[in-house]
Amino acid sequence: MTEPGAPRNILVLGGTDEARRLAAALAGWAGTHVVSSLAGRVRDPRLPVGEVHEGGFGGPAGLLSWLGDRRIDAVVDATHPFAARMTASAVEATGRAGVPLLILRRPGWRAGPGDDWRWTPSLAAAAGLLPALGGRIFLTTGRRSLPVFAGLDDLWFLARSVDPPEPPVPRRLQVLLSRGPFTVDGELALMREHRVDVLVTKDSGGRMTTAKLLAARELGLPVVIVRRPPRPAGVPAVETVEEALAWLAVTRGSGGG
Ligand code: NAP
Repeated sequence: MTEPGAPRNILVLGGTDEARRLAAALAGWAGTHVVSSLAGRVRDPRLPVGEVHEGGFGGPAGLLSWLGDRRIDAVVDATHPFAARMTASAVEATGRAGVPLLILRRPGWRAGPGDDWRWTPSLAAAAGLLPALGGRIFLTTGRRSLPVFAGLDDLWFLARSVDPPEPPVPRRLQVLLSRGPFTVDGELALMREHRVDVLVTKDSGGRMTTAKLLAARELGLPVVIVRRPPRPAGVPAVETVEEALAWLAVTRGSGGG
């Protein structure tokens, strides 16, 4: 497909399924070059098609010079909703460079009938709720969140993550290395096997990890759910890959000339 108005050099800030799908779709656009970037923290990441930049840029100043060096015409921030530092860096660098920025964020989750969700503003607040809710906790908040729960010696944790966590971690901990996507039947079996009392999750949204929420509903378990950091004001934002493609098709950037 040719998109006559589309920018020629596009940076997709990635690490999500949406970012990979966007890069795959853009690979078919004539006259358009896409670079996807990953933080480089996962040992064996699922790579998008096309060129990949792995590792940070060195803060907003580093990203600003990278945008200029690579003559980037437009940036799509398709990072995870909790990757707030990368998003803030993108807002600052693109603002200073005069390069158009779009935020692609999948919608958050909404509780339905039968759900018992406790919204919290932070991981620390989530940890504070747990002793009153149960003794066996299923943590799905990522390996780097484990230090927040490390002091809760009376509770037992099942922590699922892509890569192994590093200390400090809770004293009574079982780690399950797994990447998903997951099925409701699989999540039900896992929660039953480990006699889970409470599920802890971030409001990541998306379809790849909703099975745990449906399983918790079926088992009548409380879910402690961490709210997303706020999205930066004044930056255009969409919720789907298709909307991002439509935005790119009509956005002519200023960086690549
Ligand atoms: P973060 O706290 O916002 O970012 C920390 C630093 O990592 C950034 O300042 C940047 O370094 C670098 N970085 C982050 N995302 C990057 C990207 N896509 N490309 C290049 N550099 C990146 O981010 P995070 O929460 O650690 O997440 C890291 C990555 O994992 C993101 O790509 C995100 O999409 C993915 N991810 C995060 C979560 C989550 O729960 N947070 C879940 C699933 C996937 P410099 O300042 O040096 O540029």
